[in-house]
Amino acid sequence: MPTKFIVILGSLMSGLGKGIASSSIMKILDFYDYKVLPVKFDGYLNYDCGTMNPFRHGEVFVFDDKSEVDMDFGMYERFLDKSLTGENSITGGKLFSKIIQKERKGDFLGRDVQIIPHLTDMIIENVMNIAETQKPEVLVIEVGGTVGDIENGYFIEAMRQLSLKEKVVFVDVTYVPKLSAVGEQKTKPTQLAYRAMMQSGIHPDYILCRCEEPLEDEARNKIALFTSLNPERVIDDGTLSTLYSIPLHFMKQKLDTMLIEQLQLENKNINKGKLDDWKARLERTLNPAKRVRVAVVGKYIKLHDSYISVKESLVHAGAAHNTGIDIKWVESELLEKGDANKELEGIDGIIVPGGFGKRGIEGMINAIQYAREKHIPYMGLCLGMQLMAIEFARNVCKLDGASSSEFDPDAKHKVIDIMEEQKSINEKGGTMRLGAWECKLHGTDTIAYKAYKKEQISERHRHRYEFNNQYKDRMTDNGLIVSGTTTDGKLVEFIEWKNSFGIGTQAHPELKSRFCAPAPLFLSFVDAAITKHYGVMEENISTTSSKERTQ
Ligand code: GLN
Repeated sequence: MPTKFIVILGSLMSGLGKGIASSSIMKILDFYDYKVLPVKFDGYLNYDCGTMNPFRHGEVFVFDDKSEVDMDFGMYERFLDKSLTGENSITGGKLFSKIIQKERKGDFLGRDVQIIPHLTDMIIENVMNIAETQKPEVLVIEVGGTVGDIENGYFIEAMRQLSLKEKVVFVDVTYVPKLSAVGEQKTKPTQLAYRAMMQSGIHPDYILCRCEEPLEDEARNKIALFTSLNPERVIDDGTLSTLYSIPLHFMKQKLDTMLIEQLQLENKNINKGKLDDWKARLERTLNPAKRVRVAVVGKYIKLHDSYISVKESLVHAGAAHNTGIDIKWVESELLEKGDANKELEGIDGIIVPGGFGKRGIEGMINAIQYAREKHIPYMGLCLGMQLMAIEFARNVCKLDGASSSEFDPDAKHKVIDIMEEQKSINEKGGTMRLGAWECKLHGTDTIAYKAYKKEQISERHRHRYEFNNQYKDRMTDNGLIVSGTTTDGKLVEFIEWKNSFGIGTQAHPELKSRFCAPAPLFLSFVDAAITKHYGVMEENISTTSSKERTQ
């Protein structure tokens, strides 16, 4: 059967949760075992997200294949439990660079190269290529930005043209505000958004309403009337406390059966095992038996989206352990004044996540020292591992002035140093150590081995600096454990403390955690935080919590 398409557009403003809507729509089809995959269009002229500041744009997500992509892809993977590829991220930058290359080669000889038809044709060609090679039954295409933006106009036009040839369903994500002064939900913005969409030649098949309170019947009927839709096709997102509730809320409104019927998909029964597993995890997320407090100490704290994968990985591990995780976001600069005691009091676990540059580094090191000395479970992710090594070098090995050449190129002890092969690289885009790397775990009595339960693992990477092997013996002689390296033994991947739960990894395990297949290291960390809080080892982990990632 040929691939069918669902195109998700946003109107009025950004930040309405198109990524969540797309992920939830994919999930409800995945519950029936339809093969469903995403494509995301981003209108910006960057080639990819790799050079963007996480403070402005949110987290940069990385795939196994080294692609640096929009953080919405993280959401897709977390919902679908599938590893995706960079081909499915189509940006303005990629399209324009390809079209100019083609023009220079002479592919358009004699023609003036135009947005329509050349760029729009190229978009359709990319999409059809994904359909042919990846063979999804349904391809869900999220168009970044809002209808009316100059940046995404050519994507929307391409989707209009696609709908002339293929089976395409359009979903508009919109906002229905409630004015407190009048106490009623206002539909006028959605009516205007609908007109803007009609001007682009697109009639939405579904209107998905973001609202602060459940959509009232009056508002639903009014939107249906003005958009010529059956009221059933006006769906609300339920304003739910956790993202993972949304697919079920959509199903309550029968979005699953309506889409299956409209797309004329092959008849399939819902996969009850998959649905029940999701529901059980959701129940444990909403009503956990226990609670622990975890501090995330970083420099991009004001925008939680910068650490979205870390945040969600904690939710996944928490659901597996029937434990709610209260995250305390700690601005690392605050800890530079030496008041770690005050900020970190009563915390059951500390994470230092990834990051770049010098700001706030000393505060993170203070947090790590606090964790080590007070035996608070610690997990360091990439930068968090590098700083764990620096803290250990300074305070245990007494290597004064230990640092990383990233923050202090003249440091006396460059415990973390630029990789040899990075020294000659000047271009910033796509040049880090990226994507999936195999890692060998050493010994069986380590935190790492106990988490993964196997010798060879693979995790995703994104960094330029590494543990400096010149200091390895000095550090291990003083008690640091090197529990994982690259398979050739050359690069350090995991380090640990001996006397309490403390682990740092050069990788980003948070990039592979899924709601139904939590990251092993996060499961162990949350387990340690529970032990710290309640003083007993957690035994009652859901049987499927450490299930192997399927793809
Ligand atoms: N800035 C560090 C490096 O480039 C760490 C990067 C990260 O945490 N992703 O090596």
